[in-house]
Amino acid sequence: MKTHTRVAVIGGGVVGCSVLYHLTKAGWTDVVLIERDQLTSGSTWHAAGGFHTLNGDPNVAKLQGYTIGLYDELERITGQSCGLHRSGGLLLADTPERMQWLKMAHARARYLGLETSLLTPSEAKQLLPLIEEKYFVGAMLDAADGNLDPYGTTHAYAKAARMAGAEIYLKNPVTALSRRSNGTWDVVTNEGTINAEHVVNCGGLWAREVGRMVGIELPVLAMEHMYLVTDDMPEVIEFNRERGHELPHAIDFKAEIYMRQERKGMVLGTYEKACVPWSPRNTPWDFGAQLLEPDLERIAPSLEIGYQHFPAMANAGIRRVVNGPFTFSPDGNPLVGPVQGLPGFWCACAVMAGFSQGGGVGLALSQWMVNGDPGFDVWAMDVARYGGWATRSYTNEKVRENYSRRFSIRFPNEELPAARPHQTTALYDVMIAAGAVMGDSWGLETPLWFAPPGVEPKDVVSFLRSNDFPHVKAECLGVRNAVGVTEIANFAKYEISGPGAEAFLTRLMTNRMPKTGRLVLTPMLNPAGKLIGDFTIARAAPDRFLMWGSSQAQIYHMRWFEKHQPTDGSVRLHRYDMGLVGLSIAGPRSRELLARLTDEDVSNAAFKFMDHRAMDVGNCPAMVNRVTYTGDLGYEIWVAPEYQRRLYESIRAAGKDLGLIHFGMRALLSLRLEKNFPTWYRELRPIYGPIEAGVERFVDFNKPDFIGRDAALAEKASGGKLRRVSFTVDALDADVLGDEPIWHDGKVVGWVTSGGYGHFVDRSLAQGYIPVELAGQRADGAFEIEIIGERRKASILAEPLFDAAGERMRM
Ligand SMILES: Cc1cc2nc3c(=O)[nH]c(=O)nc-3n(C[C@H](O)[C@H](O)[C@H](O)COP(=O)(O)OP(=O)(O)OC[C@H]3O[C@@H](n4cnc5c(N)ncnc54)[C@H](O)[C@@H]3O)c2cc1C
Repeated sequence: MKTHTRVAVIGGGVVGCSVLYHLTKAGWTDVVLIERDQLTSGSTWHAAGGFHTLNGDPNVAKLQGYTIGLYDELERITGQSCGLHRSGGLLLADTPERMQWLKMAHARARYLGLETSLLTPSEAKQLLPLIEEKYFVGAMLDAADGNLDPYGTTHAYAKAARMAGAEIYLKNPVTALSRRSNGTWDVVTNEGTINAEHVVNCGGLWAREVGRMVGIELPVLAMEHMYLVTDDMPEVIEFNRERGHELPHAIDFKAEIYMRQERKGMVLGTYEKACVPWSPRNTPWDFGAQLLEPDLERIAPSLEIGYQHFPAMANAGIRRVVNGPFTFSPDGNPLVGPVQGLPGFWCACAVMAGFSQGGGVGLALSQWMVNGDPGFDVWAMDVARYGGWATRSYTNEKVRENYSRRFSIRFPNEELPAARPHQTTALYDVMIAAGAVMGDSWGLETPLWFAPPGVEPKDVVSFLRSNDFPHVKAECLGVRNAVGVTEIANFAKYEISGPGAEAFLTRLMTNRMPKTGRLVLTPMLNPAGKLIGDFTIARAAPDRFLMWGSSQAQIYHMRWFEKHQPTDGSVRLHRYDMGLVGLSIAGPRSRELLARLTDEDVSNAAFKFMDHRAMDVGNCPAMVNRVTYTGDLGYEIWVAPEYQRRLYESIRAAGKDLGLIHFGMRALLSLRLEKNFPTWYRELRPIYGPIEAGVERFVDFNKPDFIGRDAALAEKASGGKLRRVSFTVDALDADVLGDEPIWHDGKVVGWVTSGGYGHFVDRSLAQGYIPVELAGQRADGAFEIEIIGERRKASILAEPLFDAAGERMRM
């Protein structure tokens, strides 16, 4: 074994081997893989080997498409067969809602360039005669689905990596990791120690144990998973003989089963409701080549429905039952990327679909390591999307929920119940008493909307406008006509201080830093000029800045800030987390309300739009920003958590005769749509530049230097490729949700990022990206947006429908 390497990959499952191969492909060949036992000896060896492109996140779907396309390349390079069967797959809908879901998936596939088609039940039966047609209302065919040989594929990755210079050490467990003062890692193994510039945790079933070697508890849990392999089936033999090819894969959502041909029989796997975690605390080091005890009782409810839906299966003998563990994160997507606070320590774990995702994970990680950036939008699988609140018990509850819902529809207004309430503010019970329907925002209970007296505070889940519609409308009108109060504890809040703070922020952010007592809005770019953040920054004192951003991205942003923090101690970074909480008051009467709560002069002349002040509000020491995301007159009031209840009660008491109402996140998001304001993660993501996103006015090109300046200047010169635009949509009873295709002249030209109903302006609204050359197409109905399979007319808005001149914010 070498004594030094650039990268030590821990784990020789399909993911570790893919990472190793992709590192060599990206040009780093001084790389090694260290495997405890043999390649594939974790969850990889007993996988069913299926692959597909469908994923709730379009960016992960794209990476799955990449993975599936890669196998031919691997075979070509190595001569090692991956055992590919590209049979296509059917997704079978048993209810109209499931069909709506498939229509949306099909629509999304259009702009992702994936090949899908919608079928009637009899068309589906034509392709897969095993199905009992009467149980289904329709289906979607995904041509990219198929299956492979897990062993052959993992070895193909390994061989390709070795051919490029990588080394692989087998039968050699990593037992400890320690960081030297020069930032490199000592990887201690049974065969000695190897010093590495980077370490990648591809530990699969042991990812938690490898994480613990560096003091972190990764939100990963293994679940038992069963599939059956049948004896040869006459129906399968007959089909193969008649058609000359294999049966397609199938997913039966109702029965929670997936199926595919295996030799002359079938494989049938389940994601059963009564699912069981495996080894919830520690994974035994001596586990490997064995399987778990099958438990057919547990999957009997799925089999019962499956046997009705596929009667031939009921008659088939069972040759073998496989029960093996594999790992999941709480939301089911992988955990990939550099770990905040541990430079040089990377993760590629919780990959639950290694044969759909492993290639994309390897590509993303290798680019990230070699170029400093994954090269595309990997947010949905970034390890930084979880914070310390994702504890082991939280993970356990969420993973079980996610597993048992693997084939369930998640409606856009559906909040999942497991592990909740998790974090709450001091106002939780008060908000519940006021009729709040709560949502989970980065582990924190946050009011979504308020049910008036007599109305049950509960969402009726649907793809269409739902029961919250009139109540959210009332909240929006309450804000626009008088004043509303909402909790904003779920924002990210930071303090950046010290003699180097201004220079640090000036280099990271695109905008100029404000004067003391003022605020700025500013995007943050990566060196490629793509958007990686969007913040409000206040200067509280010459050397002290307060900053607010997206709560979901706190760890992601801290990782970036730490990477660029000077080492001379001149800049201190502090993430408040729940140490700072807030309430926002918004609407034309909000100044009157604030004036009743403080003895400071809050007149328009004394406390201007985009001012920041420390002042007592309702007897609480507070920091107040004159800004709101509603696009109205309004204030964000920030206090220590112990004051939040007092602040709230003062606001309520003072606002009684001003028409004060509660409003929740749904009203806030509707109000911002009326102003065409973008939002982080939907409109602002690392696949767009600032010109494309229409946030150029927050980029100060007069600043001599900031990260991404050259690329942003180039984008400005070229105009970029895309443009964010806002639309009114001739919607019927459903508004856009995000990810719908945008049509023009009979072609899909772009995609929706977010939208909904603008209750005050009384229009259905959408935002999305289209090619820049189409952004001038302002004719009424020049575009169409596909909502649940129907193309609805859409027209670009030249300006926001609410207060285009921005007078309300400045009144
Ligand atoms: C029954 C079943 C069916 C499945 N079907 C499918 C399917 O159809 N399609 C699909 O895509 N996926 C399927 N999967 C999931 C798939 O198996 C996983 O996504 C994949 O195996 C994850 O690979 P990995 O490399 O992350 O982890 P693993 O395969 O667990 O690999 C981790 C490796 O790291 C090594 N290791 C750990 N710690 C150390 C250490 N300290 N030192 C050295 N080495 C270490 C282990 O020995 C192991 O080889 C299935 C899983 C099961 C159980």
